Amino acid sequence: MTKDGRPDEDGLIARYFRPLATAPGADRLLDDAATYRPPQGFEQVLTADAIVAGVHFFPDDPPRAVAQKALRVNLSDLAAKGAAPAGYLLTIALSEDWTEGWLAEFCAGLAADQEQYGISLYGGDTVCTPGPFFVSITAFGLTPDGCVPRRTKASVGQKLYVTGTIGDAALGLKIRLDDSVRTRWGLNTADAEHLAQRYLLPQPRVEAAALMAEYASAAMDISDGLAGDLGRMCAASDVGAVLDAGLMPLSAAARKAVEADPAALTAVLTGGDDYEILAAIDPAKSVAFEAAAAKAGIAFTQIGEIVPAFAGRVRIERGGHPLVLDRLAFRHF
Ligand code: ADP
Ligand code: MG
Repeated sequence: MTKDGRPDEDGLIARYFRPLATAPGADRLLDDAATYRPPQGFEQVLTADAIVAGVHFFPDDPPRAVAQKALRVNLSDLAAKGAAPAGYLLTIALSEDWTEGWLAEFCAGLAADQEQYGISLYGGDTVCTPGPFFVSITAFGLTPDGCVPRRTKASVGQKLYVTGTIGDAALGLKIRLDDSVRTRWGLNTADAEHLAQRYLLPQPRVEAAALMAEYASAAMDISDGLAGDLGRMCAASDVGAVLDAGLMPLSAAARKAVEADPAALTAVLTGGDDYEILAAIDPAKSVAFEAAAAKAGIAFTQIGEIVPAFAGRVRIERGGHPLVLDRLAFRHF
């Protein structure tokens, strides 16, 4: 205990993080490091993502949602690599004014998601920062040997699919920053709430991981905007892609916004935080893939295809005509 009544580092780890470290290899966080033995026949997939207060979330967001966003953006990367999540490491930088109430809620969010996704905390680090609070999570999962869909493996003729709906989070963020757009887009409270929720709490497509391992040649999670992220996949594979904006899967709320304001379509196609999966599927496998996705009850929509490389790499069409957007992706710097 420190003199301001808050627990010291060891006390904090014991009280808040130990209960989350349920896997035997975490050894109750009593050791320098944890162990993890992957089962035979699987590759371990590793990923890390950090989120910073004031950059990736609002400082006054509910602490549960902050924790879940930090974890879920990582689970989204794993799902895109065909990996079922197994565990994670947590580095947390507390600002000087941190409170136990906030941390308790943050850990309750982690506990709920550990339960939902069947994973354990394996360790981490706890530091104090004079700057804004941030959290960095390193997650790992398992994909059957040789089945990881790589961004580098897209090839000409493959069909492009996305999970779920595109653009909700980007529109939700726009409303949060300026509520007047809600009226301009003709959205009711339920629409606005749907979009806001999609920004606050990503829904990683963990259930699609096995389909990606079995059917996808290339896949990635969409975090910085569909058009820009697709451009990255095309660059990695040295191909191009054509998207049909008319095929884009939109929620009812996003559809209203796009019909009311063409600028909303740019936000949908280039805004970030979707955490859906983009997959390139060989045409010889696409019928079986669509059947397997339907059987598993996972919404995938075909939105375009891979074509030979060209300058710019990504062309977006609507009704057969090219659509010109002013920006392609969210850039961190
Ligand atoms: P070290 O001095 O070796 O860095 P620490 O005192 O930082 O060790 O950590 C002690 C134990 O607590 C380790 O097992 C570490 O993984 C765990 N730990 C520390 N911070 C966290 C955290 N934020 N989340 C999970 N485990 C943590
Ligand atoms: Mg440490």
